[in-house]
Amino acid sequence: QGDSTDYDNEVQSVCPFCGVGCQVSLKLKDGKVKYVEGINGPANEGRLCVKGRFGYDYIHHPHRLTKPLIRLENAPKEMAVDPANPFTHFREATWEEALDAAANGLGGLRDSYGGPSVAGFGSAKCTNEEAYLFQKLIRQGFGHNNVDHCTRLCHASSVAALMENVGSGAVTATFNEIENADVAIVIGANPSENHPVAATYFKQFAKRGGKLIIMDPRGTAMKRHAEHMVQFRPGTDVALLNAIMCVIVEEGLYDQSYIDQHTENWEAEKQHLAGFAPEKMAEICGIDAQTIRTVARDFASAEAGMIFWGMGVSQHIHGTDNSRCLISLALMTGNVGKPGAGLHPLRGQNNVQGASDAGLIPMFLPDYQDVTDDKIRGHFNKIWGTDDFSNQKGLTVTEILDGVHAGEIKGMYVLGENPAMSDPDVTHAREALAKLECLVVQDIFLTETANYADVVLPAAAFYEKNGTVTNTNRQVQMGRAAATPPGEAREDWAITVALAQKLGLDWTYTHPSQVFAEMKEGMPSLDNITWDRLEGENAVTYPSLSPEDPGQAIVFGDEFPRAGGRAKFTPADVIPPDEAPDADYPMIMTTGRQLEHWHTGSMTRRSTVLDAIEPEANCSLHPSTLRKLGVQVGDKVKLETRRGSITLLAREDRAVSPDMVFVPFAYVEAAANVLTNPALDPYGKIPEFKFAAVKVSAL
Ligand code: SF4
Repeated sequence: QGDSTDYDNEVQSVCPFCGVGCQVSLKLKDGKVKYVEGINGPANEGRLCVKGRFGYDYIHHPHRLTKPLIRLENAPKEMAVDPANPFTHFREATWEEALDAAANGLGGLRDSYGGPSVAGFGSAKCTNEEAYLFQKLIRQGFGHNNVDHCTRLCHASSVAALMENVGSGAVTATFNEIENADVAIVIGANPSENHPVAATYFKQFAKRGGKLIIMDPRGTAMKRHAEHMVQFRPGTDVALLNAIMCVIVEEGLYDQSYIDQHTENWEAEKQHLAGFAPEKMAEICGIDAQTIRTVARDFASAEAGMIFWGMGVSQHIHGTDNSRCLISLALMTGNVGKPGAGLHPLRGQNNVQGASDAGLIPMFLPDYQDVTDDKIRGHFNKIWGTDDFSNQKGLTVTEILDGVHAGEIKGMYVLGENPAMSDPDVTHAREALAKLECLVVQDIFLTETANYADVVLPAAAFYEKNGTVTNTNRQVQMGRAAATPPGEAREDWAITVALAQKLGLDWTYTHPSQVFAEMKEGMPSLDNITWDRLEGENAVTYPSLSPEDPGQAIVFGDEFPRAGGRAKFTPADVIPPDEAPDADYPMIMTTGRQLEHWHTGSMTRRSTVLDAIEPEANCSLHPSTLRKLGVQVGDKVKLETRRGSITLLAREDRAVSPDMVFVPFAYVEAAANVLTNPALDPYGKIPEFKFAAVKVSAL
């Protein structure tokens, strides 16, 4: 994987995988990336994980799309036609022909059935400029807001709770602030695998004496560094968190002065918590009451505490309630807006923060500005030169696919997302994709979703394009093109511009810096951040208070961006998971990522080193469960839920409790989402990926 002296060019960019946003130096020889080193970015200070260091050669993989493709007439829409030759249902086309087919297909549906008959899935893997252009295309070109992306599947519930109670969907403090904390809770997250460089800061914090409290139904590698490992029963987060807060109230450990100055609705919260005594909740949560009391005291009595959470919190039908509890816990202990304190949902994709900020969501325009507000829409109409577009909130990811089944959505433009692998109950999603009258997919590989496309547009990989991305810390960073896209592949922004022009829009952008300049007109969060500044400094955290300010690591010290300037307590009740285990499906299935693979595997399974380490679909079971099933490590097992079944290798893992199975979702040959439950959280509309009733059997 590269000789460290043998390169003829070097380009600085940002890792394309997780939301940590590590800055990298790409070493190239003859136009190809030979190896990658970490550089001194604000989030990584030279560090990289195995994905950042070794997961780069997918960009040179022979499966890369190099020419536009058009589906052959009468070719059936189905998955993995012939894995050895996935192109059998397509023919190569010129760009002119493919763009005409895409524009005629989608534009024709708009003209026949109205704009809302076409929907768009943008990508958290693309740049801020590309996300912005994508949502603008749907809003300006089709006149409505049916545009969403994978934030719906990861932290939509966290954002809903943060918007409601804090007034902003982003983190209140960078994860690096943990160096100033005395105590930190990490709940529903597995940073050693999913945010590995952030995890190094957490471990350093524990090493210097900080109290690390890990809460998760699954044991994690971080537990070795923890003061407390609270392994609670899946789906009982609200009971546990309310019990912790109940102790804080009972023992008078809350910060009355902070509550009086900065919050509202405290009395309602306080009264509500009285019903959650640890002695009552302990059995529900599967842990002892004393542990709840100790954790409550340790967190509330510290000078400064941070709370980090991941998708173990958000991917439930009560995901918004889970986040409401975490927000309340931080507020009642005065742990927002000061050094070493804050709320930090660890964002998943490299640019899910930026794509959300850029308005790639159906209810908000850029900077989370309400799409139903006439004045706000008026401002964007002025910037965009549009008369107006719909004042109705659009449909979310899963609602859009339901809309296809209902015959309301007839066409889709999918940029860099893979719903044929990533959506819950993926058979339903695949059937929806097959039903579309026109599906345009823009990607770097012929993904599972592209198998269903009518037109496939070949795009540049992240290391082949210029543009900004925003990480979990609110750091806007400059990504730079190091390599040339293969064949005729083009940068995503350029493809979206060409398609917009074919659809009759008067778009004249010739460089992403022009898009960034336009974004600034509608996004106050980008004040004092310019393209040139990012070229020079590589990263600026928003908000930045002056052209010299590197940005604010901690926000909301004085007031919150809500009417009246106060944050709010929203009490949460215990809601059981949607699908309880029963005699037919007696175990609990939870899904997630593993260290070496990224999401649906399209990039990492084509990265030589990563694929060599983790080549096969697997699931993790407790040793006692393996014994009970009569299964050896490495044997195949069958997993069945009410939605379908898959077979995959069994792995032994003591971190998983005996009634659970953990399944990574990167493997198409045993796609975890064939099994997952599509039930939604009512606020964030996020599916319950973290809990499904399952039957596990030996083959
Ligand atoms: Fe890339 Fe995330 Fe690993 Fe950093 S921690 S190298 S951003 S995958």
